[in-house]
Amino acid sequence: MDQSREITPSHRTENIKYAVRDIVVLAKQAEKRGKKLLYLNIGDPNQFDFATPNHFVEAMCEALKINLNGYAPSSGIKTAVDAVEREAQSKSITNINDIFITNGASEAIELCLTSLVNSGENVLTPSPGYPLYTAIISRLEAEENPYYLDEANDWQPDIADIERKINDKTRAIILINPNNPTGSNCSRQTLIDLIAVAKRHDLIIFADEIYDKLLMDNCIHISIASLDNDIPMITFGGISKNYFGPGLRLGWGIVSGNSSRLKNYVEAVNKLLRARLCANHPLQHGIVHALEGPQDHIGAAIEKLTRRRDMTYEMLNAIDGISCVKPGGAFYAFPRLCDGWDDYKFVTGLIEETGVVTVPGSGFGQLPGTGHFRVVYLPQDDILEKAYNEINRYTKMFAEKNS
Ligand code: PLP
Repeated sequence: MDQSREITPSHRTENIKYAVRDIVVLAKQAEKRGKKLLYLNIGDPNQFDFATPNHFVEAMCEALKINLNGYAPSSGIKTAVDAVEREAQSKSITNINDIFITNGASEAIELCLTSLVNSGENVLTPSPGYPLYTAIISRLEAEENPYYLDEANDWQPDIADIERKINDKTRAIILINPNNPTGSNCSRQTLIDLIAVAKRHDLIIFADEIYDKLLMDNCIHISIASLDNDIPMITFGGISKNYFGPGLRLGWGIVSGNSSRLKNYVEAVNKLLRARLCANHPLQHGIVHALEGPQDHIGAAIEKLTRRRDMTYEMLNAIDGISCVKPGGAFYAFPRLCDGWDDYKFVTGLIEETGVVTVPGSGFGQLPGTGHFRVVYLPQDDILEKAYNEINRYTKMFAEKNS
C-alpha cells in the first residue's frame, strides 16, 4: 500500500467559502508586512464596546459552579425552551409545534436544512445574504438558488424574482430579517407578499431573525411567523447578537405552522438533535435570565449603533464612487461601488494600502455587474472616523487607476 498517498478532502467541501473570515488571511499577511489593521469585517460586538449583560453572565457562572455540567436534553432544558416559547408568543408567533436549543443559531440552521434538502434540490437564498446558508447547501450537495434583494427598494426581497426562480426542486425560502450584510428590515407588506408566494408553492420558510432586537429609528420588528399560522416556518434566533455573546454559542429554532404537514419533518430534525446529544448545557441556564431579565443593554446599544450608523451613512455617501443605502437594523452597511469597479480588487487593495479590513460583496452575493463591500459599524466612533477617512483617501487613488 502506498504510505505516502495524500489524504484527499471530500467533494462536499470544494465550494465552501466564508468570505468574512477568508479575508482575514489576507489581512494577517498585510499585518506581517507592518500594516496596522482596522477591523470592520466581523460582526462580533464583544470585540468592541459591547458586553454580555452581567445578570446573564452570573446565571451562567452559577450553573457551572453547581455542576450543571452533564448532558442536557437534546431539545434543550425546560426553562430555556419555555423562555423561548414566551418570547415567541410575545412576538405573536402562534401554532408553535416545536422549539429546540442549539449551539448557536448556526447549528439550528444546519440541522433544519439537513433534515429537509436532498442532493440536487435547491433552496432560495437571499442575495446578498449570510454565507453560512450557501456553505451548508453546498455541503448537502444541493443547489443554492439565489434571489435578489432590491437595492433601489431599501434592499427588500424582490418577490417577483423569488417567484420566477421557484422550480420543482425548490424546497424552502430563506429570509434574513434584519439582513446581514445590508442591515435592511422587511416591511410588513414584503412579509405578506412572501407568505403568499410560499402558500402558492407549498414551501417552508426559514426566517433568520437573529438581529430582531437591534432595530433603529423606533422600528418594531415583525416576525414573519406572526403573520400566518398555517404555513410551515422555522424562526431562528439566539444570544449572539441581541445579548452580545457570540462565543457562548446559544441559539434556537421555533417551528410553527400546520402541524400535520410538519409532523414527519419535525421528527427528522429531532433525530439529528438527539444524534448530536445536546447544546452546551450549563450556559443554557442563562437563557431565561437573558430573555426575561433587565433589557437596558439593548437601549444603550441602539443609541451607540444609531450614532455609528449615521456616521457610516454620511461619511461613505460623501465619497465619490461610493453610495450607501441607509441600514435600519443589525450593525452592517453594504455600500455600492461605482459601476465597473471590482469589489475584490477594491477590498484587497484597501487592506494593502490602509489596513482597513472590510469584506467584498461577492462573498455575500450581489446583482451581476454591481460591486459592493460590507462594513461592520460596531467599532468605536473614533476608529470608524479614521477608517472612513482612509477609505476616502484610498477610493480617490482607486478611481484614478480604474476610471
Ligand atoms: N444568522 C445570521 C444572519 C448571522 O449574521 C449570523 C452571524 O453572523 C448567524 C446567523 C450566526 O448565529 P450564531 O452565532 O447564533 O450561530
